[in-house]
Amino acid sequence: MRTIGFIGGMSWVSTAEYYRLANEEVARRLGGLHSARILLESVDFAEIEELKLAGRWDEVGVRLAAAAARLETAGAELIVLCTNTMHHVAGPVEAAVTVPFVHIADTTASAITAAGVGRVGLLGTAFTMNEAFYRDRIAGHGIEVLVPSDDDRRRVSEIIYDELCLDVVRDESRTFYLDVVERLVASGAEGIILGCTEIELLIDQSHLAVPAFQTTLLHVQAAVDLALA
Ligand code: GLU
Repeated sequence: MRTIGFIGGMSWVSTAEYYRLANEEVARRLGGLHSARILLESVDFAEIEELKLAGRWDEVGVRLAAAAARLETAGAELIVLCTNTMHHVAGPVEAAVTVPFVHIADTTASAITAAGVGRVGLLGTAFTMNEAFYRDRIAGHGIEVLVPSDDDRRRVSEIIYDELCLDVVRDESRTFYLDVVERLVASGAEGIILGCTEIELLIDQSHLAVPAFQTTLLHVQAAVDLALA
């Protein structure tokens, strides 16, 4: 089994899910007491957020690339960046290592294609929904991406940073997310990308009538596939 290197802490709440899911997935596949080989470098999210909000993506890239390089030096045989948003700097992170980098958008796009879905709604942080880096990567796989209205995007993102990243899960927020999903489906979405690694704490496939592409789960499954290949 290869050692998975997680770059986490963005937020720690979803990184804990990555850790739990990777171990569950390895145990499910190998049985008994098997568990995942994992190295974790966990950042202080407040520092990264400050840089991000100041538009200093270069510095974010430098820091996360350094984390990836340290993980490889420590023995990681594949690198997993445990956040959709920070794939904004996937380029420098991937370039900093010689081991495989498991890109969350490619993993998600493969699942969308395998499900036969051609048009998806995207939920995530404002950065993920508004900027091209993520939508274009999905669209590059021949998938049409719809995003919520301006107001819905603002509120979807606020719930991520003001609640989910602080380990707060509220029923009112779940209801709001499900309303947004309904509006996306009414606009033609055949499936929904839960494109932020905390969203699965709030809603998952069990809440949706259309396919839900749970990026945390899909990312972990892809990492475990590679670790056990
Ligand atoms: N975990 C989040 C994501 O998947 C948001 C936090 C962040 O990295 O800004 O996008």
